[in-house]
Amino acid sequence: MPGGNLTRDEARERARLVAVDTYRVALDLSGAKDLSAATFRSTSTISFSCAAPGASTFLDLIAPQVLSVTLNGESLDPAAVFADSRITLPSLQARNEVTVVAECAYSRTGEGLHRFVDPADGRVYLYTQFEPADSRRLYANFEQPDLKASFTFDISAPAGWHMSSNAAARSRLPVVEGAARWLFSPTERISTYLTVVVAGPYHVVRDHYARVLPDGTTLEIPLAALCRASLAEHFDAEAIFEVTKQGLDFFHEVFDYPYPFGKYDQAFVPEYNLGAMENPGCVTFTEDYVFRSKVTDASYEGRAGTILHEMAHMWFGDLVTMRWWDDLWLKESFADFMGTYAQVKATRWTNAWVTFANRRKAWAYRQDQLPTTHPVVASIDDLEDAKLNFDGITYAKGASVLKQLAAYVGEEPFLEGARRYFKRHAFGNTTLADLLAALEETSGRDLGAWSKAWLETDGVNTLALDRGAIVQSGAPGRLEARPHRIAVGTYAAADGGVARIGRAELDVTGTHTPIEVLPDAFTLINDEDLSYCKVYLDQEQLAWLEERLSSVRDPMARSLVWSSLWNMTRDGELPTTRFVGFVDRHAAGETEIAVLQSILAQTTAALDLYLAPGRRAAVADLAAATARRELAAAAPGSDHQLVWLGFTAATAVSEADFELLEDLLDGGTVLDGLTVDADKRWTLLRALAAAGRADDARLGAELAGDNTAAGHRHHAGCLAARPDQAAKAAAWRLVVDCGDQPNDLLRELLEGMAQADQTTLLEPFVEPYFAGLDRIWAERTIENARRIVSLGFPRLLVAPETLARADSWLSTGGHAPALRRLVAEARDDLARALRARAVG
Ligand SMILES: [Zn+2]
Repeated sequence: MPGGNLTRDEARERARLVAVDTYRVALDLSGAKDLSAATFRSTSTISFSCAAPGASTFLDLIAPQVLSVTLNGESLDPAAVFADSRITLPSLQARNEVTVVAECAYSRTGEGLHRFVDPADGRVYLYTQFEPADSRRLYANFEQPDLKASFTFDISAPAGWHMSSNAAARSRLPVVEGAARWLFSPTERISTYLTVVVAGPYHVVRDHYARVLPDGTTLEIPLAALCRASLAEHFDAEAIFEVTKQGLDFFHEVFDYPYPFGKYDQAFVPEYNLGAMENPGCVTFTEDYVFRSKVTDASYEGRAGTILHEMAHMWFGDLVTMRWWDDLWLKESFADFMGTYAQVKATRWTNAWVTFANRRKAWAYRQDQLPTTHPVVASIDDLEDAKLNFDGITYAKGASVLKQLAAYVGEEPFLEGARRYFKRHAFGNTTLADLLAALEETSGRDLGAWSKAWLETDGVNTLALDRGAIVQSGAPGRLEARPHRIAVGTYAAADGGVARIGRAELDVTGTHTPIEVLPDAFTLINDEDLSYCKVYLDQEQLAWLEERLSSVRDPMARSLVWSSLWNMTRDGELPTTRFVGFVDRHAAGETEIAVLQSILAQTTAALDLYLAPGRRAAVADLAAATARRELAAAAPGSDHQLVWLGFTAATAVSEADFELLEDLLDGGTVLDGLTVDADKRWTLLRALAAAGRADDARLGAELAGDNTAAGHRHHAGCLAARPDQAAKAAAWRLVVDCGDQPNDLLRELLEGMAQADQTTLLEPFVEPYFAGLDRIWAERTIENARRIVSLGFPRLLVAPETLARADSWLSTGGHAPALRRLVAEARDDLARALRARAVG
C-alpha cells in the first residue's frame, strides 16, 4: 500500500499547503464487547485552512469502509475519493471543514485500537497505540507530526467502563441502552500520533500532585494509574506514584516550564508492542511492568527508568515535537538521557548510569556494527523507514552522545539550552538545528564539529592499550578516529580488594595517544563511561582481571570491564570458553543485579551461538555447574537467588540438573527464601518441555491452574519448545498461517521453537521462511511482520549453508527495503556467530 507509506516529500508539501485548527473525533465503541463486531463507527470533523485555495490535498485513513465524506457542506462519493488509505480532498477553500464517517477495525496486533479479552474473567479491554502513524486507523486525519491541532474526543462505550484520553472528561452523559458517553475537553495543540484512548473495566488508583510555581500559583496535577481488573491484586500503584512525583519534582526544577497537559494518567495495558508511549496526559505502558511474580530490583529500576523517560517526553517530544521522523532521535535520545539522569538525581537508583553503561550501550554497540547502521541523525524518506528507526542508535547511542555533550558543554549550560528550546518552540515543531542553536547560545561553543563526528556519521570506534599508548581504530570503511574526552583510571590491589589509585582525564583525537601506564596495575580506558566507544583488553590485562575482577570495588569499573569482555567475545577477539570462565569465577561477585542479569543473558546467547560444536558440551557443563553452585550459595530471598534460578533453568543439561528442576517444581527441594511462584513455574517447565520432559497433559494442567493472559503465553511457548517435529510444525503454522496474531504470542511461539540443541528439527523451516518473507511483509502489519522476520530467521543454524541461503535471498531484487534491512541484520548476526565459533 504505497498510499499508506507517506513520504517526507508528501508531508512537506502538505504542511506547506495546510494548517489545522481543530479535530472533533466521535467514536462509538458501545459494541466493543461483542467480539463478532469487527469494526466501530468513527466520525472525524477537521477544521483547517489552505494556503493555496483551489488546490487539493488528502487525508490518511486505514479503514475497511468509508460511509461518507462531506467537504465544506458538499457530499463527496466515498468510492471516488477513498482509495489506497487516502481520501482525496479536491478544490480547497481558504477555510475548510471536512467530516469523514468510517467503519474502523479493532486491532489484534497492538496497532490502532487494540481489543483484548482477558482469559481470567472474559472482560474486554481497549487501548490505542499510534506512533508513528496509526491514529489513521482510529479516525481520518493528516497523519504527520508537524500538523498539530487541538483534539476534542466524544466517545460512547459500555456503561461501567473507565475512559481515558489526553484531556480530562468534561462531562459524562446519562446511560442510553447500556452505553455511556464521555465528552472530553479540547487538548492543547498536539500531533496526531500522540492522541490516545484507553477504555475498559480498568482498575484505577488515584493520587494527586501539587507544586507552587515561581509566580506563586499552585500547579495541580491529578494522577491516575490503571491496569486490568484481574491484575489489581499485583498492582503496586504507590510505588509508581512515588517515582512519578519524584520525576515531576525533578523535571519542574530543571526544565522551569510547568507541565502543560493537565492530568497525568499511566495505563498498564495488555499485549503492548513496546515499553511505553508518551501520550500527553495519558501514558501507556506494557503491563509486563505489573509484577505478578517476584522480580529483582532490576525490574523496578527498569520500570522507573521508563516512567521517567516518558515523563521527559511531555516537554521534549510532546510540547516541542520533531518536524519529521528524521529527527525522531531528538526526542528519543533526549528522553533516554534525561530519564536516566533523573533516575540518578531524584530516585533511589543512584547507580542507574552503571546499568546504562552495560545494557543500553550494548544495544547501541550491536546496532552500530550492523551493515545497516545509520547516523544518529538519519535520513527518513517514508513511514516504513521511520518504523525501523526505533532502534539502538536512535535511543541508546543518541543518549550516550547527549551524555557526552552534557559533560562537554557543562551540565548547567546544557539544561539552560533545553529551557530556552522549550520556551522558544512550545507547541511547535523543530529540527536538530533548533536544538543546537539553543545549546550554542548557552554554552558559547560551536557544536558543528561535534555534531558532524557524533550525530552525522555512523559507526563505533575501538580504543585499546598498546605499548604505552591508546590506539584508536574504526571498522573498515568507517571513520578511523573520533575526538573523545575520556577518563583513564588506574586500579591496584589494596586492603583485600581492588581500588582506583589514579585518574586522568584527556582528549583522544587521533589513532595514537601516549599515556602513562603503571606496572602491576590495571589501566581502565574510558573509566566512568564518559565516551561512546568499545574498549579492547590485551592479554596482560585479561590475565590480571581473571584473578581480580570481582574484587574491583567500583561498580562502574566492573560494569565497563564486563562490557569489554562481551564486545570482545562477539567480535571473535575472546574465546567464548574464556568468557564463560570469567562468569564462573566472577559473576557471583557482581553486586549490580541488572548488570548480573545482562551478563548471564549474554552467557546464554554465547552458549547457543558462539561456541564451536566440539567445545559446546564441556563449556555447557561448566555453565550449568556455575549456575547450580551459585543458586545454592545465594542469600535466601535475595535477588541473586532469583537470577541464579533462571540461569539454572537456562543451562540445565544433565539428568541431575533436570531432576533439580523437577524437585523445585513439585516442592521436593526447598531453597530458603525462594517461592516458586507462577512465572517461575513456567520458567522451569519451559526447560523441562524443551528437554522432552513435559508432555501435553502436564502443560495443560499447568494452564488450568494459571488461566491468565501470561499463563496462555507461557503455555504456547512451552508447547513450541518440545523436541518434536509436530510441535514445531504446529507453532510455525500459528505464526505464518493464522492471520494477525498478538505480538506477545508470536514472540513466545518463535522463541519457544528456537532451541539450540534442536537444530535438526529446525532445518525444515529454513526454506518456508525465505520463500514466505515477501508475502508476510505484504500481508501483515509491520509490527507483526518485523517479529516474524527477526525471530523466525534460522539464527541457531550457525552454518555456511544458512549464510549462503540468506545471501541468495538478499541477492534477488524486488524486496521491500525495510524487509531487506531486517534480513541483512539477521544475516550479519549469523556471520558474526560463525566468526566467533572459529575462535571458540
Ligand atoms: Zn521515548
